[in-house]
Amino acid sequence: MPLMKSWVASANSADTPFPLNNLPYGVFSTPDTDPRCGVAIGEMILDCQAAEEIGLINLTNDPLFDVPFWNDLMEQGPAVWAALRDRLTALLAAGSPHQSMVEPLLIPIAEAEMHLPMVVPEYTDFYAGRHHATNVGTMFRGAENALPPNWLHMPIGYNGRASSVVVSGTDIRRPWGQLKSPDHDLPAFLPCRRFDIELEMGAIVGTPSDGPITVQEADDNIFGFVLLNDWSARDIQAWEYQPLGPFQAKATATSISPWIVTKAALEPFRTDTPPREFELLDHLKDVGPMLFDIDLTVTLAPAGKPASTITRTNYREMYYSAAQQLAHHTTSGCPMNAGDLLGSGTISGPEKSERGSLLELSWGGKEPFTLETGEQRSFVEDGDTLTLTGAALGDGYKIGFGNCTGTLLPALKDPYER
Ligand code: MN
Repeated sequence: MPLMKSWVASANSADTPFPLNNLPYGVFSTPDTDPRCGVAIGEMILDCQAAEEIGLINLTNDPLFDVPFWNDLMEQGPAVWAALRDRLTALLAAGSPHQSMVEPLLIPIAEAEMHLPMVVPEYTDFYAGRHHATNVGTMFRGAENALPPNWLHMPIGYNGRASSVVVSGTDIRRPWGQLKSPDHDLPAFLPCRRFDIELEMGAIVGTPSDGPITVQEADDNIFGFVLLNDWSARDIQAWEYQPLGPFQAKATATSISPWIVTKAALEPFRTDTPPREFELLDHLKDVGPMLFDIDLTVTLAPAGKPASTITRTNYREMYYSAAQQLAHHTTSGCPMNAGDLLGSGTISGPEKSERGSLLELSWGGKEPFTLETGEQRSFVEDGDTLTLTGAALGDGYKIGFGNCTGTLLPALKDPYER
């Protein structure tokens, strides 16, 4: 499918992240309005609350957009998701008879402040990138034992903290924690010295479930995707992770991009998971292409300096799809809610330039890498701004995600000062 034409001129370029083919969902405010739901089109946002109030959107008996989050729409299920997308397309397409009514409801993105697009009831993070798991496992346990014996049979994950999820643009404070350096017998309580990022995609559950669901049902239940940065304190993690996995190392913050790109917009970009070494058990078997071809980059800008690209990779590098992760998550009977967020796991490609964390790029700090400014990095330094970008590239258009960015603030001098 080529670029779909809109009467919003800025939506018709090959470079805009938000053509009519995309229609991502966010929550925005302006100096004149409280946070509310909107859809991005070119350089503008259509105010969905205002459109519903004047009857331009009228899909359900109860209003969908009288609240500043998208969970209510998610709970309506795929038929209403499709109806809304059809209606928005009709309102914004070139030649739409509704242009004169819709035009006053457009706000420039540049004048809007973005908020979390949904309430996040639960957040789970996985570890499903084979190159990442192999790199990290090699550093921690040696090449022979890089992948744990379960890794090729199921997507490994941990239950994270929904309270840690923040919208792109939120500053991140370097945490304190209990650290143990290999040269000392006893741990110490200090500011993290190995603060890191993880380049991930976040899948958002739309349809709730209560009990085990199949991979196909899981794919059907997924509403959309965001970019996700799982900020990670590697020195805290190394000391705390055995025997129950990550805890405080992952609880400082998780940044997500402000626009939910719907699964519908990504349908043309489906790809297969990589070849499997072991056949998966039936409840996890692939039932179609359930990964997506999404180019991803990470840039690092030291304070006051230009940004350098430090990573380029693609979401198709994952070993398990979000649908397989969600299906696995429900095998225990675990209930899933509208708005639940599933981190993919760090996305690294096979090449050095495709690594999705500084831990891998600097090989545990042993091989610092050089930025375009000439500075070196092993981990994130105070004042650094890390930015994730992503886009699926179509024929003369792209499906962009908008940035997922955050700046690291220095640790507090005394975290217990009142
Ligand atoms: Mn992670």
